[in-house]
Amino acid sequence: MANSKAVMGINDAPMWESMKHEKLALQQCDACASFRYPPASACPECLSEKASWKPVSGKGTILSWVIFHRKYFDDHVPPYNSVAIRLPEGPIIISQLQGEEPKGSWINREVELAYGEHAGRMQHYVKLTGQS
Ligand SMILES: [Zn+2]
Repeated sequence: MANSKAVMGINDAPMWESMKHEKLALQQCDACASFRYPPASACPECLSEKASWKPVSGKGTILSWVIFHRKYFDDHVPPYNSVAIRLPEGPIIISQLQGEEPKGSWINREVELAYGEHAGRMQHYVKLTGQS
């Protein structure tokens, strides 16, 4: 078994670089202004190839979550969670909830992005905001 690895396709480097500065940036289409994730060469909305990297607000809402009880990577010791977060900018990202966990359903709980070193790289995780 080994540690998980950062996906580093031809469009991914600026996103990983933004996390080193603790401010996630995603591509925003220069033609239609939609944000996209994962990073891609063309806009899925209008097919424009022009985009600019823009920081996102850092807020989000839990769309879904799962608790893994099986070990897939050395750097993810079970039990651990993965959460799908809908950003107000539109994209859905996958992250991990750290700190306090919601009582009952996690769906629609508001979270904010935070950053930390994981397996030798800086990456985001999320934590609950004060609102219930
Ligand atoms: Zn577009």
